[in-house]
Amino acid sequence: MEEVKETKICSKCSIEKSVDEFGVRKDTKDGLNSCCKECIRIRSKMQYAKDLLKSRELSRLRSRKRAINYPDYTKQRKRNSYDNNRLMFVLKNRLNIAKKENILHDNKEILYEYLKDRWNRHECEICHKRLILGDKFSKDNSPSIDRIVPELGYVIDNISIICHRCNRIKNDATWQEHLMISNWQKEKEEIFRNRNVVNLT
Ligand SMILES: [Zn+2]
Ligand SMILES: [Zn+2]
Repeated sequence: MEEVKETKICSKCSIEKSVDEFGVRKDTKDGLNSCCKECIRIRSKMQYAKDLLKSRELSRLRSRKRAINYPDYTKQRKRNSYDNNRLMFVLKNRLNIAKKENILHDNKEILYEYLKDRWNRHECEICHKRLILGDKFSKDNSPSIDRIVPELGYVIDNISIICHRCNRIKNDATWQEHLMISNWQKEKEEIFRNRNVVNLT
């Protein structure tokens, strides 16, 4: 009768261990792996770490190659991710205020999806001037998120991307009020236009 071994020496760590600590392998004499389970675990972990480093290095190389071959593409991608981050930043800021002041609003993920494309057009929806993302101080051509009808809050279809100047002019006035002011302003200017004293546009 064949003698059944209770222990086995691992070929890797050279420690004598119970046969339970070795994995089954059909093509060996004793039907067990030559290395213990622990050694195999360590080896696969190390392999995983190596692969991970390799894939990181590969993607780094790829993006470096792309930056050389397609500088515009890389610039645009960086630009887009910066722009999208800025949108999220502005949106969070608006919604924090909305929460504090009990202004109606959709959740930020929904609003973000709704605004993303409009934001990346870099164009005021009212005057169609180009919008520039500057530093934290708003200028006339900085983008802003506008509530078309302020009372309706930050909800889909009631928000738009307009320039800071248009937003400042629009403020909380209704279109009727704007019309009233425009008509009055036009009427008053007519007087001077007729006198031909100044060149008014
Ligand atoms: Zn071992
Ligand atoms: Zn504008």
